[in-house]
Amino acid sequence: VQGFRGQKVAVLGLGRSGKTAALALRAGGAEPIVWDDGQPARDAAHDEGFDVVDLTKSVAFDGVSALIVSPGIPHLYPKPHPVISAAWDAGVPVDNDIGLFFRSFATSEWDGFDTAPRVIAITGSNGKSTTSALVHHILVENGRSAQLAGNIGRGVLDIDPPSDGDIVVLELSSYQTDLARALTPDIAVLTNLSPDHLDRHAGPGGYFAAKRRLFAEGGPDRAVIGVDEDEGRYLANQLADHLADDRVIRVSSGQKLDQGGWTVFAKKGFLSEYRKGRQVASVDLREVAGLPGAHNHQNACAAYAACRTLGLSPKGIEAAMRTYPGLPHRSQVIAQVGGVTYVNDSKATNVDSAAKALAAFPKVRWICGGLQKEGGLAGLHASLDHVVRAYVIGREADAFARDLPGVDAAICTTMQAAVAAAVADALPGEVVLLAPAAASFDQYDNFEQRGDDFTAQVKTALAV
Ligand code: ADP
Repeated sequence: VQGFRGQKVAVLGLGRSGKTAALALRAGGAEPIVWDDGQPARDAAHDEGFDVVDLTKSVAFDGVSALIVSPGIPHLYPKPHPVISAAWDAGVPVDNDIGLFFRSFATSEWDGFDTAPRVIAITGSNGKSTTSALVHHILVENGRSAQLAGNIGRGVLDIDPPSDGDIVVLELSSYQTDLARALTPDIAVLTNLSPDHLDRHAGPGGYFAAKRRLFAEGGPDRAVIGVDEDEGRYLANQLADHLADDRVIRVSSGQKLDQGGWTVFAKKGFLSEYRKGRQVASVDLREVAGLPGAHNHQNACAAYAACRTLGLSPKGIEAAMRTYPGLPHRSQVIAQVGGVTYVNDSKATNVDSAAKALAAFPKVRWICGGLQKEGGLAGLHASLDHVVRAYVIGREADAFARDLPGVDAAICTTMQAAVAAAVADALPGEVVLLAPAAASFDQYDNFEQRGDDFTAQVKTALAV
């Protein structure tokens, strides 16, 4: 990152994004000063030659040009991290690695990059990683040079220098879009919007506002918007004011959108593309094994639309979709034994994603539970008729089970007990699904560890 040569820039949080920011700043001739709340992270940074400075006091910001904050650190709610407050007190601008990335393009100061890549930025409550990985897969399969970065893939300041025609597919969370001081993708995608992370966004309005920043005036040339919620419809409608109609693609899973404009929607297993009220292409999604369920059809539509804006043909996109391998922990089939399918959807950490996972399969032995999020389980109730029996894990398993009206629920607490019971009960044609509708932190470090535990327990129980 250039533009800070000889200047002090503070970096808060030394996970992947903070570390790559510090390295990129140093490579561009800036003098990063770094801080993390954890002693081990500070020690590691010190060993790598970084200047570790206690940034909790505003005097530490004397002569500092910017504070770069990692996405895991609360910047406003429930309350700002003390280092962020100190930067505000000192009048220092607060930004993140995404802001630095876009700012570098705007000033043509990207280190050694002859050319700025085109950037597709993808946000939404669910389906960001799937859509990003799918777009990347489709581009590469169609001979385009593309890199995956952001929340998935590499840290955005760690990408390879792009060459002519390169495309960066950037997955962005609401925390990242909220804080970035520059956000100017060529193509912006919103998959969908459901309540999540409300504790850090002052309620649903704040959460939507954070996502919406990606579509601000002066932002994208093209916008792909999921219109299955009111927020998406509102956004698409508003964008028409500053983007010509053929620059906004409306996307839906379930609704037929053939009234006009440019639309892509999935219905009864088929994806359709319409322009000005006329169908221009169709894809049979039932042939796409890596993307089961209506929620994945929504991702397929968003990815298809984003790739169409880059000039790819419907046939080329369809062929690539058929070879999409899927991502671990997202609707991932891990075993099929005795007519029973075992699916790891550990990433279903919120109610909406778990409801979608349940809806994708007719008869489910459902492993669920964990650290519950705000708002309870009401959002799941409509999908509970797919549940043959629930096997509830987590420290709050009792409370979780009480919130599942009409469901036969076994309190298992541990993954091992849940998998053993589900494997013993499952009948041919059923699916044993881990889709917890809860965070994992009461029992695991993260959702990946939870999914790995499920996978290991299934393999042990089935002796495969
Ligand atoms: P994100 O990166 O937004 O968290 P992922 O692609 O990692 O999204 O999927 C997260 C969870 O949500 C998974 O459990 C997945 O099965 C589910 N999911 C994926 N796409 C959608 C969608 N379009 N709508 C609802 N849930 C989805």
